[in-house]
Amino acid sequence: MKIICIGRNYVEHAKELGNEVPDEPVIFMKPKSALLQSHAPFYYPEFSNELHYECELVLRISKNGKYIQERHASNYYNGITVGIDFTARDIQDELKKKGLPWEKAKAFDNSAAVGKFIDVTPALDRKNINFSLFNNKEMVQKGNSKQMIFSIDSIISHISNYFSLNIGDLIFTGTPAGVGECVVGDQLEAFLEDQSLLSLEIK
Ligand code: ZN
Repeated sequence: MKIICIGRNYVEHAKELGNEVPDEPVIFMKPKSALLQSHAPFYYPEFSNELHYECELVLRISKNGKYIQERHASNYYNGITVGIDFTARDIQDELKKKGLPWEKAKAFDNSAAVGKFIDVTPALDRKNINFSLFNNKEMVQKGNSKQMIFSIDSIISHISNYFSLNIGDLIFTGTPAGVGECVVGDQLEAFLEDQSLLSLEIK
């Protein structure tokens, strides 16, 4: 399986990091070794001094596909949850300055935390999903899928023009504004609507 991530998919987040609003999805990937399930401990990476959380909606691919049309995209995923795209922001800033790839800052072990998946049902309005992240019981990020620059279905379609999607692949759909630093001892909990799906401690 692979983990595909979308960057800068919310206007306010692109601005808070001083980035331009993209005219097509920004894509990067994480390897399978980056996957961290809810309730497993996250160990602060020794190579970073500025670890950030990015809370995102995450989709689980349920059907193999390539060149998927946007109007058919909803047939290709059956699970959704909240996840955290852990980012070593100090490393990423260095790499960005040099124009180098982001993997060291974004794709390290356990950097892709995912919550418990819930089924995508016809009742779920994919253009109006609320999600949020709490750090030590205080809300730090809040988003809604309607604020996405590129919708869930257009992301699936775009990705599949470059990378075949396979059953079990995960897609991180981008983070809203409010990214911030976390430190050892922090308790992170993420919600999709009012359901707590992800909880972990930084060790
Ligand atoms: Zn992200």
